[in-house]
Amino acid sequence: MSNHELLELRGIGKRFPGVVALAGVDFTVRAGEIHALLGENGAGKSTLIKVLTGVYSADEGKIRFDGKNIAPRAPKDAELLGISTVYQEVNLVPSLSVAENITLGRQPGALGFLNWRAIRRRAKAALARLEVDVDVDVELGSLSVAMQQMVAIARALDTQAKLLVLDEPTASLDEKEVAELFKVMRKLRGEGLGLVFVTHFLDQVYAVTDRLTVLRNGQLVGEYSTAELTRLQLVGKMLGREVHETDFAASAAAFTKQATTSVLGVKNFGRRGAVAPMDLSIAAGEVVGLGGLLGSGRTETARLLFGIDQADSGELRVKGASAKIRTPRDAVAQGLAFCSEDRKAEGILPNLSVRENLILALQGKRGALRPLGRTEQEQLCEHYIRALRIKTADAEVPIKNLSGGNQQKVLLARWLATQPAIIILDEPTRGIDIGAKQEIEQLIAKLRDDGLAVVFISSEIEEVVRNCSRVLVLRERKLTGEVTGAELNTERLMQLMAGTHEA
Ligand code: ADP
Ligand code: MG
Repeated sequence: MSNHELLELRGIGKRFPGVVALAGVDFTVRAGEIHALLGENGAGKSTLIKVLTGVYSADEGKIRFDGKNIAPRAPKDAELLGISTVYQEVNLVPSLSVAENITLGRQPGALGFLNWRAIRRRAKAALARLEVDVDVDVELGSLSVAMQQMVAIARALDTQAKLLVLDEPTASLDEKEVAELFKVMRKLRGEGLGLVFVTHFLDQVYAVTDRLTVLRNGQLVGEYSTAELTRLQLVGKMLGREVHETDFAASAAAFTKQATTSVLGVKNFGRRGAVAPMDLSIAAGEVVGLGGLLGSGRTETARLLFGIDQADSGELRVKGASAKIRTPRDAVAQGLAFCSEDRKAEGILPNLSVRENLILALQGKRGALRPLGRTEQEQLCEHYIRALRIKTADAEVPIKNLSGGNQQKVLLARWLATQPAIIILDEPTRGIDIGAKQEIEQLIAKLRDDGLAVVFISSEIEEVVRNCSRVLVLRERKLTGEVTGAELNTERLMQLMAGTHEA
């Protein structure tokens, strides 16, 4: 295997207004290797790839590729140099044939006459190199996403790529399709290409990569040989925490069920492509965390429980009785509430008043035929503004004028007004200041003491440990473990999130 340095990025800096996306980042990829680029959300992975592929130009730093200094100004420049990118969303043309897509923009032919035989021959050659069997004459749009990705890779090969960048190509593929993709990746590595692989799945990192680079908050954490870094060390580097492997208790937390009365329970409950079938049970008066890395399936689980996405297996029970939840409306009727992670997109209606935002869920639950009277609305607002200490001049102020923390409190109030038995809080403290954070945490404790079942999701491990009495750990879209009691500490959680007990 040739091992020379194919790509060297040195001291790359990139700023956006108000954000340093990359600061002094080095990144090296050798010919004949698969190199993972890793880091939690916002680490700078996509920005680094965009600098490399000419989508952005760096503010600082140098790029050396194949022995020359380069400064691609557009993806086309990068492609001509031999750097090709395959994104998660295949950016090809669904209505054209496979052959046309593979040669798009560089079709052989002269004077405007396409040489169809040459186009098809070249497309077939590129696919044969991947050992992929597909008819080059069918419309791209008629193929599975997995197959479309293969076509995208074939297109990259047709450009004589020396470096292939795969930015989260596996997010929507099933196990068999991932295996197929890995086979192709290994084959290309064997032919001396350099491959950059961005993924959230640690199993995939260990299955297919030779080396890896970790970024955090726009900074280089380090470059490592995959085989020399344990999962736990890797997770520690991604999250920026020291971990001590010696504290690792060999016995994986036995997956114990709570004996207490269950308010919300599921059995064999899952959705293909989202989360594997799981069992769980949540009792009144407990705060149960869903722990896991980005992409582990936390939000997907919440969305299934609340009926935003539909489970395709298993059953769900509310207060011991079998319940059918097919829509959020069903969920609310059953006593569930869901404070979503994306306040801006799914949560607040910025131009409406605090009052209008606050009554929304309750009004929805009652239905259009039983509108809440104005006095009732005002009483509700008065109550929650006082109870949650929402800082606003009055209930008629547009919610967009409130700080993030106070907007979050209005959202909480919106759901509490429905008097739920179960409330799911997805990243309830994201983007709010410390003071507001503490208040939200106190409020969670109060809800628990009032007998609600609270499901808590947060990317901050310390926050999960602080607020939860029990944490269910998801990894690679499977429920893989549970911690409670003395075992519920950051160290143990990180081990389970990393999956070290299986390694
Ligand atoms: P990753 O891909 O690792 O999740 P990104 O490279 O997308 O991280 O983002 C790194 C940081 O740069 C984040 O703080 C993000 O908000 C910011 N950022 C990325 N692209 C832009 C942009 N076009 N404009 C402003 N900020 C951006
Ligand atoms: Mg990204």
